[in-house]
Amino acid sequence: MHSLKHPIAVDENVATAHLTSFHYGSPGSGKKVYIQAAVHADEVPAMLVAHVLRQELERLEAEGRIKGEVILVPAANPIGLSQVVHGTPFGRYDLKSGTNFNRAYKHVADELKKSLEGRLGSDIDANVALIREEARKHVASWEPKDDTETLKKTLLSMAIDADIVLDLHCDNEALLHMYTGTPLVETVAPLTALLGARVLLVAKASGGEAFDEACSRLWWDLADHFEGTAIPPACAAVTVELRGENDVRYDYARLDAAALLQYLGHSGVLDIELAPLPETPCRATPLNAVEPLSAPHAGVLVFHKRLGELVEAGEPVADIVNPVSGQVTTLSAGHPGLLFASTAHRHLLRGMHVCKIAGTESFRSGDLLSA
Ligand SMILES: [Zn+2]
Repeated sequence: MHSLKHPIAVDENVATAHLTSFHYGSPGSGKKVYIQAAVHADEVPAMLVAHVLRQELERLEAEGRIKGEVILVPAANPIGLSQVVHGTPFGRYDLKSGTNFNRAYKHVADELKKSLEGRLGSDIDANVALIREEARKHVASWEPKDDTETLKKTLLSMAIDADIVLDLHCDNEALLHMYTGTPLVETVAPLTALLGARVLLVAKASGGEAFDEACSRLWWDLADHFEGTAIPPACAAVTVELRGENDVRYDYARLDAAALLQYLGHSGVLDIELAPLPETPCRATPLNAVEPLSAPHAGVLVFHKRLGELVEAGEPVADIVNPVSGQVTTLSAGHPGLLFASTAHRHLLRGMHVCKIAGTESFRSGDLLSA
């Protein structure tokens, strides 16, 4: 193992920030795996899982059981982690610019369409190697305009040529759920099963350029563009939401880390004893079949339904109670589905997020991720 310290914010006279990555195995000796935790900074369950992974990877490396390369970034957002507003950690957006730390990653497919013109053939492995080489160059040519873009470029530079990218997050209050690209559903099915994810949200393009899609979507964008050329979805990139922000427990962290390591075992990266795969606990849900509910007016949020409960169309999910006007508004689901994530706040202003329900029928369009 060796670690690298990447300069992120290094102006004299201003607070500095560095990002640390840990590197296991040998580049080129097998698949490349990239794992990062807490790109939204205060996603503590993800950091605890990374802590367990680090210990396990050190042990596995010492035993010679890593058959490729694994990069682990256990705290992927030093800028966001140092943002605390009046005692409350604030890690989702960059306070300086307002940008979401998991949006606006450089999508290199358009540049690749030009630079690869006439250079791809029928050899699938050669195509994959050439696409990775060119993708690395296009990420390297990104000129960051602020510290947050430097951070994003640093993270993407380590992941853009990986076979497997595991981006570990958490939600406010949630069941364990995952996001991935539609062409990757079969590839990540074992991970869904091992983690016991209750929802697998899929899209070919979610909008917003999240980190996992910056790594994976270029492959099917290029396959569509160079139709008939052998281009596989060569990067299995997944965003894993490790329940809610307060679900910080050693037992969860150990189970989640073990599931991730088993997935790497099943993928041929780790030489470990493989447990049989559990049954997949959910089917893929199109991201455009997720119904977000929001508050129609300010008030106290009281749930009728709990996380993990199925909801019928028209069934009450929560009330918003204004204690001054006395107005009580019942929020109902427009579509049947599973209540899988909700806000952690219990007093909301008009328009604030209440919860998300995973349905089965597509009905939304446009940007499918929250801002
Ligand atoms: Zn997140």
